[in-house]
This record gives sequence, structure tokens and C-alpha cells, in this order.
Amino acid sequence: MRMPQTFGRRGGGGSFLRGRLTILLIAAVGLFLYWQMNQKPAPFSGRSQLNTIPIQQEVELGQQSYLQILGQEQGQGNEVLCARDMCTGTEAELTSRVREIGARLQAAAIELEQDLLAEGYNFTPVADTFDWTYYVVDSKTPNAFCLPGGYVAVYTGILDITGNYDGEVSMADIADPDKLAVVMGHEIGHALAHHGAERMSQAKVVQIGQVAVGVGFGDMDAGQQRAIMQAFGIAAQGGMLKFSRKHETEADKIGLDLLVRACYDPREAPELWQRMGEIGGGQRPPEWMSTHPASETRAENFRRWMPDAIAAYERNCGPLP
Ligand SMILES: [Zn+2]
Repeated sequence: MRMPQTFGRRGGGGSFLRGRLTILLIAAVGLFLYWQMNQKPAPFSGRSQLNTIPIQQEVELGQQSYLQILGQEQGQGNEVLCARDMCTGTEAELTSRVREIGARLQAAAIELEQDLLAEGYNFTPVADTFDWTYYVVDSKTPNAFCLPGGYVAVYTGILDITGNYDGEVSMADIADPDKLAVVMGHEIGHALAHHGAERMSQAKVVQIGQVAVGVGFGDMDAGQQRAIMQAFGIAAQGGMLKFSRKHETEADKIGLDLLVRACYDPREAPELWQRMGEIGGGQRPPEWMSTHPASETRAENFRRWMPDAIAAYERNCGPLP
């Protein structure tokens, strides 16, 4: 074990320590300014978010990942329904169901953004410029996502949870579209609020911070460096997790707003999330595994939002059954 006598290496530990602190201080100030300068008003919530990615680039990245993910699914034998020319029968029916729900939600998104702008919220609307695309992936995984740019995928594995919940995926599951609309609305909520871009921007800041810490403590022995890097990593991870819970709550709220505008029953939302909470850990899609808020928090949020959501539904769509 090498002792940290390295302090005395360059004529006096004092000046060396000062040098190290200066590097860290400059890095911290730099990161703080970078963080401040790249704050943009987040749509819907009124908070501001770190976003260093221009919208065109965000949409391009969304499209690239969409093609990549769908390609990988196909490579693993999970067919992307109606991706080829021939599209009939069950494939066609499932796909057109998902596209119907999507069309109603995306129209609701455009409307919602315009209404918020009229109410004085300050943000750049995107729904109307998105390249809305919907595909169904034939896979057992209960999953669904909407990437930046409006690239939506629904996995058949989720249809029983959003359907009659009898343990089997069948056409009967798409008879009632409301719970599937809850899932799609939530996922679209993430894309509208730029959560992906925010996460990528935060990851960039963490990376720069890591380099700065590495340079600042570069002279320490390997064990100490590792300990410091680990502490930094845990702090960064904690910060990101806090944001991902915030993202989930925002997506829940935006999803609910989209539902009532598109005339889907808002009361299905808490029920769907309760089902999601019930599925076993191994089966749960990655997003929900790591970042979904505690079920009680989520249920509590929906209880708080529901009176307004029901009133809005009845204003737009007539009385609920
Ligand atoms: Zn989510």
C-alpha cells in the first residue's frame, strides 16, 4: 500500500493542495454555468429543465434509436407487425387499433400545447412537428415506449395488462382501449416533456464532472481515487434517480390530460398503474423496474388529480358512465 506521501512531491503539500482545489473549483464553476445556461422551460410543469439538445437533433436521435430497437427486436425473432408490405388479419387489426388511439392522443397533445401557450406557459410546442409513427412488436415483454419525435412502439406482451387481465394475450384484450390509451398517453408524455433529452444532457454534465474529479485527484493512489470516483458516481446516480421519479410523475399528469382530451376514461389510469405494480419484477419493463414512483405516491397523485380530470372529461366528452 502506497501512503499518500505524494503530497510532498512538488515542493510543499500546501501549494499542491491549492492547485488541486483550483482545478476542482474551476470545473465546478464551469459546470454550474453550463447548467444555468442550458436551462429551458419544461413544457406542462412550469419547472425549468437542463436541455443541451436542439429539437431537430432530438427527433433524429429518436428516429435512429427507433429503427435500431425495432431492428434488434426483429433480429431476436420478435416480429414488428405490418412492417412489411403484406398486412392483414390480426396483425392489421392490432396495428390499426394502436394507430387509432395514437391519432386521438397526438391530436390531444397538439391541442394541449396550444391551450397551455394561450394560458401563458412559456415553451416551444413540438407535438405538431413530431413525425408520429406507431408499430406493434410481437413480443412477450410487457413494454411500450414513445421516443423523442413521436416514435411509438407497443409490445403485444402489455396487451393483457391493458386488456382483460386474464393472463393471456388475445384479441379480447383490445376490445376496450382505455387502459392501453393510459400507457400510450404516459409514454407520449415523456416525449412531449423532453425527458430523454434532459437525461442525456444530465449524463453529459456527469461525464464532464467525472473528468474534472479525475484530473483534480489524479495524483492520489488508486484506492483513494476509486473511493472518490465511487462517491461521485453514487451522488450523480442519486440525482438522476430523483429526476426520473419527477419524470414519471410529469408523464402521469400529461398522460391524464391527454386522456380526457381524447375522451378516454381517466379513472382507468390509477387502475392500470396498480396492475403494473402487481407484475413480477422479472417481467416488468426496465423503465418501471428502476424508476417508477412508489405505488402509494402514484395512487395519491391520481386521487389528487382525478376531480379535475373527470370534470374536464365531462366538459369535453359528456357524462362518464
Ligand atoms: Zn414513464
